[in-house]
Amino acid sequence: MSSMLEEAKKQLDAAAKYAQIDQESWERLQYPQKTLQAAIPMRHDDGTLRIYKALRCQYDSTLGPCKGGIRYHPAVDRDHCEALAFWMTFKCACVKIPFGGAKGGISVDAKSLSHRETERLSKAYIDSFADFIGPDTDIPAPDMYTDEKVMGWMYSEYRKIKGGHPKDVITGKPASLGGIEGRNTATGYGGFFVLETLFNNYRNELNRIGLPTQPTIALQGFGKVGYWLAEILHKKGYKIIAISNEYGGLYNEKGIDPIHLRITLDESNYKEWGEGSKITNEELLALPVDILVPAAIEGVLTARTAPRVQAKMVLELANGPTDNVGDAILNDKGVLIVPDILANAGGVIVSYFEWVQNRNGVVKTLDEVNADLRKIMTYATNRTVENYFKHKVSMRTAAYILALKRLASANECLGNKYYFTEHTEKK
Ligand code: NAD
Repeated sequence: MSSMLEEAKKQLDAAAKYAQIDQESWERLQYPQKTLQAAIPMRHDDGTLRIYKALRCQYDSTLGPCKGGIRYHPAVDRDHCEALAFWMTFKCACVKIPFGGAKGGISVDAKSLSHRETERLSKAYIDSFADFIGPDTDIPAPDMYTDEKVMGWMYSEYRKIKGGHPKDVITGKPASLGGIEGRNTATGYGGFFVLETLFNNYRNELNRIGLPTQPTIALQGFGKVGYWLAEILHKKGYKIIAISNEYGGLYNEKGIDPIHLRITLDESNYKEWGEGSKITNEELLALPVDILVPAAIEGVLTARTAPRVQAKMVLELANGPTDNVGDAILNDKGVLIVPDILANAGGVIVSYFEWVQNRNGVVKTLDEVNADLRKIMTYATNRTVENYFKHKVSMRTAAYILALKRLASANECLGNKYYFTEHTEKK
C-alpha cells in the first residue's frame, strides 16, 4: 500500500500538465525539506513515566516560514505529518499567504489524558522542538485535539526557553497572550465564504450540477472546524439535516440547530443528542443531501463509501478527507468537490493575521479579521474557478494549478537552472 504522502502527491500530477512549471521546481516539491522525530517522556498523574512519539515536518519553505498545526492523535506518524505538511504547502500557495507548509503532532489519545497531563505533554513537546521551530522558520498552531489552551502552554514553555516575548512563534494562542480575535471561527467561516462565493458568482455551474438555491447539508465532525461552519450556516438560514462526531451522528430532516446541539452534547457528556434519529458516520456520508461536508479526519470518502454518496457537492473542511480512488468515483458521478487546500484555508489565513499582528503590534478588530478573511477566500475561490473553467479540470486540480504556479514562480526568483545558466550567459 502506498503511503499517505505518496497518495497526496498524486493530486499534483494532474495539475503539473497545466501549470507547466520547470523541472527543478517540480523536483523540489517531491520531498519534505526536514522532518524531526522525538521521544517525549511525560510523567502521568499516577506517577508512571511514559514515552510518546512526537514529530514536526517542514515540507517546503519556498514562500516563507513553514506553518502548520500540531495534532494529538494515535494515528500521528512520520508519513501522516509529511502528508499534512504537504497539503499545508499547497494551501498557503493556493490562497497566496507567504508561508510554507508544516505539520506536527504527538501519537496519543488526547481524551485519555487529564488536564495536567496534557499541559506536561504540551510543554515537553516544546522542550524537544524549541530549536526546530521559530517565528522566522516554523510557526505551529492548533489542529485536531489541540486548542488555544494548548497553544498557551506551548508558548509559555517556548518563552521560558528562549526568553523575551516571541509571540509570533505560535498562532491560535489565547487573546490575552497575543492571540487574534476570530481565530476559533476562522476555518469554519472561511469554508462558508467559499460556499458563498460559489453561490453568488457561479449559479449557472451550480444549476448544471443540480444544486438547489436552498440546499440541505450533512456535516461530519463537530469540533473547532465543524461547529463554527454549522453555526454560520445556521445563522445564514441554511438547513443542516445531519451532524456527527466520533461517537455517531444525528439526523433530522426538519433541520438541526447546531448551537442547541452543542449545548445538549456538552451538558449530557455526549449522551443526549436532542430531537431526531441516531445515525452512524457511514450513514451520514450516504444521506440524500445536496452538500456533504467532511470536517473530521482524512480518508473518509473512499472506494467503499464514495459510490454511496448522493450529495452534489462535497465541501472538504477536513484535510485529505477524500482519497484518490474516492475522488475519481465522485468526479465520475459529477459531484463537485471543493478541495481542502481551498475550502479549509481560513485557519491559516487568520493565523497569518495573528503572526503579522504579533510582529508589528497593530491589532485587528474582529470585524477587520472577518472582512479580510472573506476578501482573501473570495479572491482565491474566483482564481480557482477561473482555472476550473479554463482547463476544464476538477476544482482540486484547478486549485493545485494555482498553487504550483505560485511556488514555481517564487522558486524561479530564488534561482533555478535558467537563472544560473542562460540568464547569466546572456550577460
Ligand atoms: P477537533 O479536534 O476540534 O474536532 C474534530 C472533530 O472530528 C470532533 O467532533 C471529533 O469528534 C470528530 N471525529 C474524530 N474522529 C472521528 C471519526 N473517526 N469519525 C467522525 N468524526 C470524528 O479538530 P478540528 O480542528 O475541528 O479539525 C478537523 C479537521 O479539520 C482535521 O482534518 C483538521 O486537520 C482540519 N483542519 C483544521 C483546521 C483548524 O483551524 N483547526 C484548519 C484546517 C483544517
